[in-house]
Amino acid sequence: MIEFRSVSKTYPDGTAAVDDFSLVVPPHRTTVLVGSSGSGKTTLLRMINRMVDPTAGVIEIDGEPIADKDPVRLRRGIGYVLQNGGLLPHHTVMDNVTTVLRLEKTPKRVARDRALELLDTVGLDRTLAERYPSQLSGGQQQRVGVARALAADPNILLMDEPFGAVDPIVRAELQTETLRLQQELQKTIVFVTHDVDEAFLLGDQVVILEKSAKIAQVGSPSEILENPATEFVASFIGVERGARALHTKRTARGTVLVDTNGRTQGVLVEDGA
Ligand code: ADP
Ligand code: MG
Repeated sequence: MIEFRSVSKTYPDGTAAVDDFSLVVPPHRTTVLVGSSGSGKTTLLRMINRMVDPTAGVIEIDGEPIADKDPVRLRRGIGYVLQNGGLLPHHTVMDNVTTVLRLEKTPKRVARDRALELLDTVGLDRTLAERYPSQLSGGQQQRVGVARALAADPNILLMDEPFGAVDPIVRAELQTETLRLQQELQKTIVFVTHDVDEAFLLGDQVVILEKSAKIAQVGSPSEILENPATEFVASFIGVERGARALHTKRTARGTVLVDTNGRTQGVLVEDGA
């Protein structure tokens, strides 16, 4: 479990990126932070692995304040996926995936086998292992980024707008793949996006943010869709404009697409499939 308690971050230039933010992130679930650009999402994410330290408040992981932990060791237990995968361009897929394992001095053979398994896990052909990032499609690069983040088998996975740079079809594919992976791996995922549809599709818990990471509403997708807490939330999720013609819903069968009349239009992910 990750807990933020009255956390603030003011950058040296005076920007109040996060102001008095409190949240419990439950284990083995996906929590999505969704808000407009500049609302403080990346700052929140980077405070979890101490790439940014708060100026006030406490963040705990499993009841222990992370301020007491060595940042390098802390980060080994936390995978981080960036937009475009954040891959090293002059390293092969194999070398990118095994970066952390090599730092940990994992025997070469073991690291190699683990990397190949990870390529299977993220749905990539093993023959891609010797390619360079520029020889892969955007979607493939993104999958390599996920494989790399999973290499040290972290309990926590941070994902910062990971699918922002790919086209809509590949994006939908990667979203479905993320749901499948999460059913299999059950990590504690904190996922950042500015896309409301993505938030409702992927999130068990969705956190809608305003400026300075002020929480407008926290809840499950259906709680928020059925009962937007404020005008801001209603307009942000598009119910006012009738823009939400289709929305996603978790059912006993899996995640389904539902139209404005509540009719199921399709199954995105079937549980136990
Ligand atoms: P988001 O990820 O939601 O777009 P960020 O956390 O990146 O938001 O930024 C929140 C606010 O903090 C923005 O106003 C941004 O300009 C500012 N900010 C982010 N990083 C820095 C920094 N290193 N120095 C000063 N201001 C920053
Ligand atoms: Mg950001």
